[in-house]
Amino acid sequence: MGADCLFCKIVNRELPADIVFEDDEMVAFNDINPQAPTHMLIIPKSHIATVNDLTESEVDLPGRLILRATALASEKGFADSGYRLIFNCNSEGGQTVFHIHLHLLGGRQLTALG
Ligand code: AMP
Ligand code: ZN
Repeated sequence: MGADCLFCKIVNRELPADIVFEDDEMVAFNDINPQAPTHMLIIPKSHIATVNDLTESEVDLPGRLILRATALASEKGFADSGYRLIFNCNSEGGQTVFHIHLHLLGGRQLTALG
Protein backbone atom coordinates (compact mmCIF):
# COMPACT_ATOMS: atom_id res chain seq x y z
CA MET A 1 0.00 0.00 0.00
CA GLY A 2 1.14 3.53 -0.76
CA ALA A 3 1.70 5.55 2.40
CA ASP A 4 -1.46 7.54 3.15
CA CYS A 5 -2.93 6.70 -0.25
CA LEU A 6 -6.65 7.53 -0.33
CA PHE A 7 -7.51 4.85 -2.86
CA CYS A 8 -5.50 2.12 -1.07
CA LYS A 9 -7.61 3.01 1.98
CA ILE A 10 -10.78 2.52 -0.07
CA VAL A 11 -9.46 -0.85 -1.29
CA ASN A 12 -8.68 -1.84 2.32
CA ARG A 13 -12.04 -0.55 3.61
CA GLU A 14 -10.30 1.98 5.84
CA LEU A 15 -12.33 4.70 4.10
CA PRO A 16 -15.94 4.34 2.95
CA ALA A 17 -16.85 4.43 -0.73
CA ASP A 18 -19.86 3.57 -2.83
CA ILE A 19 -18.36 0.42 -4.36
CA VAL A 20 -20.15 -0.90 -7.44
CA PHE A 21 -17.79 -3.72 -8.46
CA GLU A 22 -14.92 -5.68 -6.95
CA ASP A 23 -12.84 -8.69 -7.93
CA ASP A 24 -9.36 -9.97 -7.04
CA GLU A 25 -7.67 -7.29 -9.08
CA MET A 26 -9.77 -4.13 -9.06
CA VAL A 27 -12.46 -2.03 -7.41
CA ALA A 28 -14.96 0.36 -9.05
CA PHE A 29 -16.78 3.03 -7.07
CA ASN A 30 -18.77 6.20 -7.62
CA ASP A 31 -16.77 9.42 -7.71
CA ILE A 32 -17.43 11.61 -4.67
CA ASN A 33 -17.65 14.73 -6.89
CA PRO A 34 -19.42 13.48 -10.03
CA GLN A 35 -18.92 15.41 -13.27
CA ALA A 36 -21.68 13.50 -15.10
CA PRO A 37 -24.82 11.53 -14.12
CA THR A 38 -22.55 8.47 -13.95
CA HIS A 39 -18.99 9.10 -12.84
CA MET A 40 -17.16 6.04 -11.60
CA LEU A 41 -13.52 5.31 -10.92
CA ILE A 42 -12.06 1.89 -11.75
CA ILE A 43 -8.83 1.25 -9.86
CA PRO A 44 -6.38 -1.62 -9.43
CA LYS A 45 -6.05 -2.98 -5.90
CA SER A 46 -2.29 -2.73 -6.22
CA HIS A 47 -0.77 0.69 -5.63
CA ILE A 48 0.58 2.21 -8.85
CA ALA A 49 1.01 5.97 -8.54
CA THR A 50 0.64 7.11 -12.15
CA VAL A 51 0.37 5.56 -15.60
CA ASN A 52 4.06 6.50 -16.00
CA ASP A 53 4.79 3.82 -13.41
CA LEU A 54 3.15 0.96 -15.32
CA THR A 55 5.65 -1.72 -16.26
CA GLU A 56 5.76 -4.24 -19.08
CA SER A 57 4.58 -6.96 -16.69
CA GLU A 58 1.47 -4.89 -15.91
CA VAL A 59 0.60 -4.19 -19.53
CA ASP A 60 -2.66 -6.18 -19.42
CA LEU A 61 -4.01 -4.34 -16.38
CA PRO A 62 -5.21 -1.16 -18.13
CA GLY A 63 -6.98 -3.33 -20.70
CA ARG A 64 -8.86 -5.16 -17.96
CA LEU A 65 -9.81 -1.84 -16.30
CA ILE A 66 -11.16 -0.68 -19.69
CA LEU A 67 -13.11 -3.91 -20.21
CA ARG A 68 -14.69 -3.47 -16.79
CA ALA A 69 -15.58 0.12 -17.67
CA THR A 70 -17.29 -1.05 -20.87
CA ALA A 71 -19.30 -3.59 -18.86
CA LEU A 72 -20.35 -0.88 -16.39
CA ALA A 73 -21.31 1.40 -19.31
CA SER A 74 -23.49 -1.41 -20.68
CA GLU A 75 -25.11 -1.93 -17.29
CA LYS A 76 -25.83 1.80 -17.09
CA GLY A 77 -27.37 1.72 -20.57
CA PHE A 78 -25.13 4.23 -22.33
CA ALA A 79 -22.63 1.94 -24.06
CA ASP A 80 -24.19 2.67 -27.45
CA SER A 81 -25.03 6.35 -26.95
CA GLY A 82 -21.50 7.02 -25.71
CA TYR A 83 -19.31 7.84 -22.76
CA ARG A 84 -15.77 8.86 -21.89
CA LEU A 85 -12.81 7.04 -20.29
CA ILE A 86 -9.89 9.06 -18.91
CA PHE A 87 -6.59 8.45 -17.15
CA ASN A 88 -5.15 11.72 -15.84
CA CYS A 89 -1.39 11.78 -15.30
CA ASN A 90 0.52 14.10 -12.99
CA SER A 91 -0.24 17.73 -12.26
CA GLU A 92 -0.63 19.17 -15.76
CA GLY A 93 -2.83 16.21 -16.60
CA GLY A 94 -5.10 17.07 -13.69
CA GLN A 95 -4.22 14.08 -11.51
CA THR A 96 -4.97 14.71 -7.85
CA VAL A 97 -4.97 11.18 -6.41
CA PHE A 98 -1.73 9.32 -7.04
CA HIS A 99 -3.09 5.79 -7.41
CA ILE A 100 -4.05 5.12 -11.00
CA HIS A 101 -7.76 5.30 -11.75
CA LEU A 102 -9.82 5.13 -14.88
CA HIS A 103 -12.65 7.68 -14.96
CA LEU A 104 -15.90 6.48 -16.54
CA LEU A 105 -18.20 9.40 -17.37
CA GLY A 106 -21.57 9.02 -19.02
CA GLY A 107 -25.25 9.78 -19.00
CA ARG A 108 -25.16 13.19 -20.66
CA GLN A 109 -23.71 14.82 -23.77
CA LEU A 110 -20.06 15.44 -22.90
CA THR A 111 -18.23 18.47 -24.27
CA ALA A 112 -14.71 18.97 -25.49
CA LEU A 113 -11.77 18.18 -23.22
CA GLY A 114 -9.54 21.02 -22.15
P1 AMP B 1 -7.91 12.77 -10.68
O1 AMP B 1 -8.11 14.26 -10.69
O2 AMP B 1 -7.87 12.16 -12.04
O3 AMP B 1 -6.77 12.35 -9.79
O4 AMP B 1 -9.26 12.19 -10.04
C1 AMP B 1 -9.42 11.97 -8.69
C2 AMP B 1 -10.90 11.76 -8.50
O5 AMP B 1 -11.09 11.14 -7.25
C3 AMP B 1 -11.72 13.05 -8.51
O6 AMP B 1 -12.71 12.98 -9.54
C4 AMP B 1 -12.31 13.09 -7.11
O7 AMP B 1 -13.63 13.62 -7.08
C5 AMP B 1 -12.29 11.62 -6.71
N1 AMP B 1 -12.24 11.35 -5.28
C6 AMP B 1 -11.41 11.91 -4.37
N2 AMP B 1 -11.64 11.38 -3.16
C7 AMP B 1 -12.62 10.45 -3.31
C8 AMP B 1 -13.30 9.56 -2.42
N3 AMP B 1 -13.02 9.51 -1.11
N4 AMP B 1 -14.27 8.76 -2.92
C9 AMP B 1 -14.58 8.81 -4.23
N5 AMP B 1 -13.96 9.62 -5.13
C10 AMP B 1 -13.01 10.43 -4.66
ZN1 ZN C 1 -2.74 3.50 -3.47
